[in-house]
Amino acid sequence: MKEDCIFCKIAKGKIPSATIYEDNHFAVILDVNPATKGHCLIIPKEHFDNIYDLDGETAGKLFSLATCIARALKDALKCDGLNVIQNNGEIAGQTVNHFHLHLIPRYEGDGVDLTWPQHEVSQDELEEIRKTVKKAI
Ligand code: 5GP
Ligand code: ZN
Repeated sequence: MKEDCIFCKIAKGKIPSATIYEDNHFAVILDVNPATKGHCLIIPKEHFDNIYDLDGETAGKLFSLATCIARALKDALKCDGLNVIQNNGEIAGQTVNHFHLHLIPRYEGDGVDLTWPQHEVSQDELEEIRKTVKKAI
């Protein structure tokens, strides 16, 4: 538990939230400022700042839980689609520095825009990037 972390406090039940699921490892809560109806957050109870800190075992369990919550959202809310989003770092839109996964149900005409500009890239550039990243794995 990290002092002054809002999601540590929520995950440990020290601050109330609209919880739709909870087990020993995770809490799933409704976002307080939802993008759409049913927007929820999967929060590990243990504090990880971001994806770089998250261990593989927790990540595996978390994504398994995400599939279950996604199906529940689809069944319960009859959404037309669903986005899974996870932000790391301020530039990427992270505002709470405790790892969390967004599940955002999507509805026709909901006005949510998650598009980004698409750039041209040469085969040489792609190859350079491929080699650089592959070496780092
Ligand atoms: P981020 O921008 O870090 O990826 O997402 C943080 C999310 O947490 C936002 O969508 C924001 O609305 C939500 N959030 C922030 N504080 C609280 C809170 O106290 N309770 C709940 N339920 N959601 C919160
Ligand atoms: Zn925390």
